[in-house]
Amino acid sequence: MINVKDFTYDELSALLMENGEKSFRAGQVFKWLHSGVTCFDEMTNVPKSLWKKLPDLYISVPKIEQKLVSSDGTVKYLWRLSDGECIESVVMNYEHGYSICISTQAGCSMGCKFCASTIGGKIRDLTPGEIEDQIIFAGKDMGVRISNVVLMGIGEPLDNYDNVIKFIKNAGHEKGLNIGMRHITLSTCGLVDKMYALADEGLPITLSVSLHAPEDEIRRSIMPVANKYTIEEIIKACKYYVRQTGRRVSFEYTLIKDVNDSKENAKTLASLVKGMQSHINLIPVNEARKNISRSTGVTIGVFKDILLQNGVNVTIRRTLGGDINASCGQLRNKSDRSGS
Ligand code: SAH
Repeated sequence: MINVKDFTYDELSALLMENGEKSFRAGQVFKWLHSGVTCFDEMTNVPKSLWKKLPDLYISVPKIEQKLVSSDGTVKYLWRLSDGECIESVVMNYEHGYSICISTQAGCSMGCKFCASTIGGKIRDLTPGEIEDQIIFAGKDMGVRISNVVLMGIGEPLDNYDNVIKFIKNAGHEKGLNIGMRHITLSTCGLVDKMYALADEGLPITLSVSLHAPEDEIRRSIMPVANKYTIEEIIKACKYYVRQTGRRVSFEYTLIKDVNDSKENAKTLASLVKGMQSHINLIPVNEARKNISRSTGVTIGVFKDILLQNGVNVTIRRTLGGDINASCGQLRNKSDRSGS
């Protein structure tokens, strides 16, 4: 069986035309799919006879396993997929509209020491339709239009490259969710070869890199991926991304007590990004794992000031949804999972 939302618009269009439909049909079907229909019969202007010719197709409908609403309005969904796997997404309400943080894999194989999503390893990649369903069905459930998307939930998006690229193209399609490329942010732990590939896709999305350390030795101690790529290689790839897309790159830097939060670390970090169109997001670490503690408020303030004094664009990430464990990976770990 094939999830009809896993086709790109062009693939869907070709399939429908092969089955005797006129070219306008793909637009109608695509629109229905992205408005959250749960079965073919709900597409009232599409002849039912069409689907009889395509018996292998189905429409994915994730089940809301759990929904948590924070006092600040942040909503967290735990979805159960067709094979029983669970993933999470978080919807945040900002002044400029609704933003959703979505997952790209069930689990993650990157092994970052501070992250809850990687605890059970990677179970599987999500398909393009499953990635998009998080936006479709959260928007439908809340009755709102979600205009910003961040690929910062469970999983490493560049480790599921082809599906993620297909998803981005579909989400940006004018007959679908029509989300502006500039309103999509992809976060990666720094898979350098894929960062180059992404720069060459011609999709002007924002790239965010989880740096978390200014030196390779520190980075290797918290992120196994640092054994594969050096910080120098990552920065070079970021500069290429800026050149190719004209978009600035942002860096995520999670502050962990006594690991990466010294004044020296701040100075080295500033020198790394010198002269780049970039932005650094400092994130007080969420204490989701053993032996990982959050830096003190004073240390975080000093770290930020050193960056500012060195001309770096920096903000401390506002934490939303603290009362509902909104950081990804935490709910999934508590849920029953088939096969584990
Ligand atoms: N794999 C991608 C995207 C998912 S993680 C990546 O690494 O970027 C999204 C962000 O949350 C990353 O910056 C990640 O490092 C950060 N993160 C993970 N666990 C965290 C924790 N316990 N506290 C704060 N940030 C965390």
